[in-house]
Amino acid sequence: MRNLLFLSLFTLLFAACKKQTTTSQSALGSSGSACLIGKWSDSSLPLTLKMSSDFSGDITAGMMVGGLNPLEQMAKVWNDAVGGSKTLITVPFPVTNNSGYSTTSAFRDSEIGIYKSPQWFSNVQTNVIAITQYYGIVTSSAGLGQYVQLTHADIIVNYRDYASDLVMANAIYQVDMDLPTVVLHEMGHLLGLCHESTKPSIMAPYYSTTQRTVQNFDRTRIQDIYINNYISGLGANTNAISVPEGTEVKGMIELHKDGTCAHYENGKKVYEHHLDLSRKPDIAMFKKHK
Ligand SMILES: [Zn+2]
Repeated sequence: MRNLLFLSLFTLLFAACKKQTTTSQSALGSSGSACLIGKWSDSSLPLTLKMSSDFSGDITAGMMVGGLNPLEQMAKVWNDAVGGSKTLITVPFPVTNNSGYSTTSAFRDSEIGIYKSPQWFSNVQTNVIAITQYYGIVTSSAGLGQYVQLTHADIIVNYRDYASDLVMANAIYQVDMDLPTVVLHEMGHLLGLCHESTKPSIMAPYYSTTQRTVQNFDRTRIQDIYINNYISGLGANTNAISVPEGTEVKGMIELHKDGTCAHYENGKKVYEHHLDLSRKPDIAMFKKHK
């Protein structure tokens, strides 16, 4: 019964998603969502995504599946989604020291990583659980249209404010925020995916439950980007950002505690989804409820 309830709430939450356009978005284009997909070049695959060593203390032997910890299992979900001909992210992850950077821009180093951050940043709000920050060059191809050719990215999790809320295993009931679920979604951004609110997708801007698998839409989209080089029904990629091709952009996608996931490109807010949690204040996965 509980599962059925969750399923229906999940469906209802998808249906309830509303998109907030911003003034800056309206300046960018007219139709679809103002999110430019991203793509790593074939020569940069598989990505070496490093995990900061301080996650290791959260991982127990019982969480390992096939020799992979829960965060690596999420990378495998994306690898499996593209099929066997290409690997997106190397697993297991190499481990790196947590550099403890105090600014977001400092993360633009030689390592693509997932980090716990014991401090938070002056340019990011305190109600943000995690950010995916990326850099890339605006480019285009016949099949993909305009996209960001990604050159660097990191996933940074806010352990200053949410250290006690984020758990490495929360498979049953979401009294806490399930870190692998958050990371699976953030990895989608790191690989170049935008939000999807019209179809069941791990790239929905929020969840009501622990979600450790991707949906058919996600498989199709990631295969379109990385295997087919063609996106059918270019719905999520119809808005060119207002900079010329060849321009480098810095993007930041914030996952907010209240379920909002906002996109920034070159520091300007261009895209934001928001869930009206007043409808279901007790069921937001990204909001710890006590
Ligand atoms: Zn997001």
